[in-house]
Amino acid sequence: MIEDVRLRLSPKDGADYELLARRASEELGLDRKDVHDVAVVRKSIDARQRRVMLNLMLRVAFGDDKSVDRNIREVELKTVGEDAPTVVVVGAGPAGLFAALKLLEYGIRPIVLERGKDVDRRAVDLAKISREGILNPDSNYCFGEGGAGAFSDGKLFTRSKKRGNVDDVLQLLVQFGAKREILRDAHAHIGSDKLPRVIKNIREAIRRHGGEVLFDSRVTELLLHEGHAVGVRTETGEEYLGEVILATGHSARDIYRMLQRQGVALQAKGIAIGVRLEHPQELIDRIQYHSKEGRGKYLPAAEYSFVTQADGRGVYSFCMCPGGVIVPAGSAPGESVVNGMSASARAGKWANSGMVVQINPGDFPQYAEYGELEIMALQEALEKEFFEAAEQTYRAPAQRMLDFVERRVSESLPASSYPAGLISRPMHKLLPPFIADRLRKGFLEFGRKSKGFLTNDACVIGLESRTSSPVRIPRDKERFEHIEIQGLYPAGEGAGYAGGIVSAAIDGQRCAEQIIAKRENRIEND
Ligand SMILES: Cc1cc2nc3c(=O)[nH]c(=O)nc-3n(C[C@H](O)[C@H](O)[C@H](O)COP(=O)(O)OP(=O)(O)OC[C@H]3O[C@@H](n4cnc5c(N)ncnc54)[C@H](O)[C@@H]3O)c2cc1C
Repeated sequence: MIEDVRLRLSPKDGADYELLARRASEELGLDRKDVHDVAVVRKSIDARQRRVMLNLMLRVAFGDDKSVDRNIREVELKTVGEDAPTVVVVGAGPAGLFAALKLLEYGIRPIVLERGKDVDRRAVDLAKISREGILNPDSNYCFGEGGAGAFSDGKLFTRSKKRGNVDDVLQLLVQFGAKREILRDAHAHIGSDKLPRVIKNIREAIRRHGGEVLFDSRVTELLLHEGHAVGVRTETGEEYLGEVILATGHSARDIYRMLQRQGVALQAKGIAIGVRLEHPQELIDRIQYHSKEGRGKYLPAAEYSFVTQADGRGVYSFCMCPGGVIVPAGSAPGESVVNGMSASARAGKWANSGMVVQINPGDFPQYAEYGELEIMALQEALEKEFFEAAEQTYRAPAQRMLDFVERRVSESLPASSYPAGLISRPMHKLLPPFIADRLRKGFLEFGRKSKGFLTNDACVIGLESRTSSPVRIPRDKERFEHIEIQGLYPAGEGAGYAGGIVSAAIDGQRCAEQIIAKRENRIEND
């Protein structure tokens, strides 16, 4: 049998498997020898008192059940020939790859077209951004195999309420090489060092089963016929035919422009813009665990999460990376963009998070002329201004946190994880007042809530502008097809229907399921 048990333990006891098994057997009135496996499925750290405690939910396997992981379901992919029906999947991020896997489950042949390179060659291009100041517009932190999630923290939590779908994605990730712990851990993350192997395994499985994954294949045109999408054309003129799952992520500005040019209905969508905030991890540990000694041997690198309202807009922390690094995450030359990631051990010296302000369509009327692309135009203009401010380099404009709040240029900057280096700039002036003033109020509020957080040992680094998609490609709620163009399935984050690795993957799967359902209906009706 499998049962859940709640325990409250010290961090040291919580790390002792034998002790957990013993305490679980006592709670269940069993002999220790009858308990075969124990896993922590939920853990919260209670740091309100001087003595930090863990609240644990343990899953316990006993009697006939030898492991708590009994429910792993391996998905079987069908092997298809070249004559099998095809679907064109544009983009090899989580949405595109999981859509392709779903199609293969049902014997449909996916042709995945990816503008960037495979994950190994992509890693070489990432290093060039910091080392040589060269940014490849098809191969960078946003573009290339694995999508924007490939070199990320790999945090796998999602606000999706559909537990079954989430479990499905997590199980597939395990099937393709992620550690099994992600199935148990409430705050699972894979780590930027581990994700590439999982992505390669997915690609190889797609190919082994008859699907195609083509790199260096940038899509530049949607093929339309009598109001239907019938395929795509790439930059080199090749055409690929079939329904189109468009899973190009939130940074494919050329795709939004292409759709606007081709008369495909779009909608402007709000996003959040701000900075990356970087503290020494030790400081965050001391604050969060209320201890001068920091986190000690048994506690993880501490996290934080802040949210407040300032002048009618949300100001909040986003994508916190404990023990992480800040990376240059622009997708075209001449743009200054930062984002964060961490390796699986989260052992780095710094803690970073996005600190952002919610922006809605209409907030910046000077961009109204761009129509549905108004927020994208704002994003682009700010990124260019930051690049200019950094003397046209990928060094990132930065300011100490307290200096930002007190509106004073920093005379020096603290050490940082950002590999391309920082450059001191008046961020309080570089950011539009709409954002800078609200961020300032947010920081003051967060500093009041958390003593020591608002400090000049921390640094604000810009620009954090790729928090989600600035455009929605509207689709029918049930059929997932574009509201006007049949055969076009906008998927994942770039369509405005997902945010994060897991939700993008789920969305890709659901688009594929809609295509499968439509085809099956057609066959039945024929
Ligand atoms: C540095 C960083 C850290 C992140 N950390 C996390 C995290 O820890 N947890 C989390 O859940 N999320 C994280 N995210 C966000 C997450 O990566 C995205 O939400 C997710 O990848 C979206 O998936 P997607 O498949 O919709 O789009 P994407 O992953 O953006 O994939 C889109 C793909 O389409 C390709 N493409 C674009 N245009 C074309 C074209 N014209 N032709 C062909 N191909 C094209 C791109 O190259 C890309 O591979 C992070 C993002 C970044 C940049």
